[in-house]
Amino acid sequence: MDFVFQRTYRGPIRAVILDWAGTTIDFGSFAPVAVFIRLFEQQGISISQEDVRRGMGLMKKDHLRLILNRPAVAEAWRQLKGSPPSEADIDRLFAEFAALQVEILRKYTLPIRGLGEIIADLRQRRLKIGSTTGYTRAMMDIVQPEAEKRGYAPDALVCPDEVPAGRPYPWMIYQNLIQLQTYPAEAVVKVGDTLPDIEAGLNAGLWTVGVVLSGNLLGLSEAEVAALPAKELDTKRENIAKQLYQSGAHYVIDGIWDLPPVLDDIQTRLSHGERP
Ligand SMILES: [Mg+2]
Repeated sequence: MDFVFQRTYRGPIRAVILDWAGTTIDFGSFAPVAVFIRLFEQQGISISQEDVRRGMGLMKKDHLRLILNRPAVAEAWRQLKGSPPSEADIDRLFAEFAALQVEILRKYTLPIRGLGEIIADLRQRRLKIGSTTGYTRAMMDIVQPEAEKRGYAPDALVCPDEVPAGRPYPWMIYQNLIQLQTYPAEAVVKVGDTLPDIEAGLNAGLWTVGVVLSGNLLGLSEAEVAALPAKELDTKRENIAKQLYQSGAHYVIDGIWDLPPVLDDIQTRLSHGERP
């Protein structure tokens, strides 16, 4: 055949899939850090924020494994226990983690500044709102009602323990699209604060947006961000934006509060027949 037809989607954006901690709630993504540090303290091992922040975005059990593999942590464990952590150790630690986070998670459910206005804007655009997270369903059973009390309730939520694997696999996103009854993938935008968020979005064929200031890669509270000297903040912002772009993010913004102009731009590109 000399000629073939190429089908392109030129319709409206239909949905956004938002991450939770560091994107819509818990500015700086502090909850998992607090829980993991406490968990290891109980083992007699002191870990750093950096040890925890490396694995953020992953399903929490994979995240735990990653922390245990950090050279300093692995060495401390070996010295204390005499051998590297076994699968049974990991299962036990994860069970303790699950118990610990109940009391800690609840404290870190504050919506990020401007979230209410952004959700209103998304609703006005007639977009469906899905969500994914590194938290398991048991954790989200704590977080979700607290967020709802504060006015944040997305249309769908899929946790990594409800699909074959968490990020960077696309399964949580696919499950959201089914629940939201939304297609095609190019009509959907994924927003998140970690590299696995971006990778999962790309694996699912979505437009991807990374957030810089509220997320785990910066890992600061809103007050700490405000207190940073402008030059230092610019350097950090540039560095994080670079990581997000290098992971393939289509857009990088300071926070969810800057999402509307990005949606406008994606809409223009869609109507020109562009795809993610
Ligand atoms: Mg996050």
